[in-house]
Amino acid sequence: MRIPLVDLHQQTQAIKSNVITQIVNLLDNTSFIMGQGVQDLENNFCSSTGVPHAISCNSGTDALLLILEALGIGSGDEVITTPFTFFATAESISRVGATPVFVDVDQGTFNIDPQKLESAITPRTKAILPVHIFGQPVDMEPILAIAKKHNLKVIEDACQAIGAKYTFSDGTVKSVGAIGDAAAFSFYPTKNLGAFGDGGMITTKVDNLATIRRSC
Ligand SMILES: *Cc1c(COP(=O)(O)O)cnc(C)c1O
Repeated sequence: MRIPLVDLHQQTQAIKSNVITQIVNLLDNTSFIMGQGVQDLENNFCSSTGVPHAISCNSGTDALLLILEALGIGSGDEVITTPFTFFATAESISRVGATPVFVDVDQGTFNIDPQKLESAITPRTKAILPVHIFGQPVDMEPILAIAKKHNLKVIEDACQAIGAKYTFSDGTVKSVGAIGDAAAFSFYPTKNLGAFGDGGMITTKVDNLATIRRSC
């Protein structure tokens, strides 16, 4: 017997009538682009993750690209990330003309190992792009400290981790996406929160990054 990699039937059936009602509402109010539903989703994202800005876009890949561009990262720059992730993480770094620099993962979590990170920093490094793989938050506290010390941006790839929470050593709990300068989420149908098609979200606490992204 062949076991499919993904089977969305069961979860789709569970919400089908709700989705159909929403689609009919959408047809009736014809707000096909940036309608109230988008506004509601962005507002819900802000309240559930605790970030001031949530900006929807068409995919997790574009969320990463749009963040990198808004931060001015491009040719000649290096971005430190993990090799153990979906292709789009390193792809987005290359797409803006920068170079992905890989740091090995922690054997217990499969997330980037903060201990190995600092030695990968060069004068060209502009940002650290950790990935919360399989919904498990990266150990962000040491990464934030390294980023602060070297004046680097922190971009979270939270594409697989909506709703995950990270606890700091002082007991503070933060949602992924609310920890670094900006974060990318994906609503690809197989992700933790799958859409009816492709979708993505940028979250950020940086006001001018939000302004730049909303204006495009
Ligand atoms: C899925 C995924 C992406 C890209 O998201 P898309 O919406 O498919 O473009 C980026 N990073 C990680 C870790 C992912 O799992």
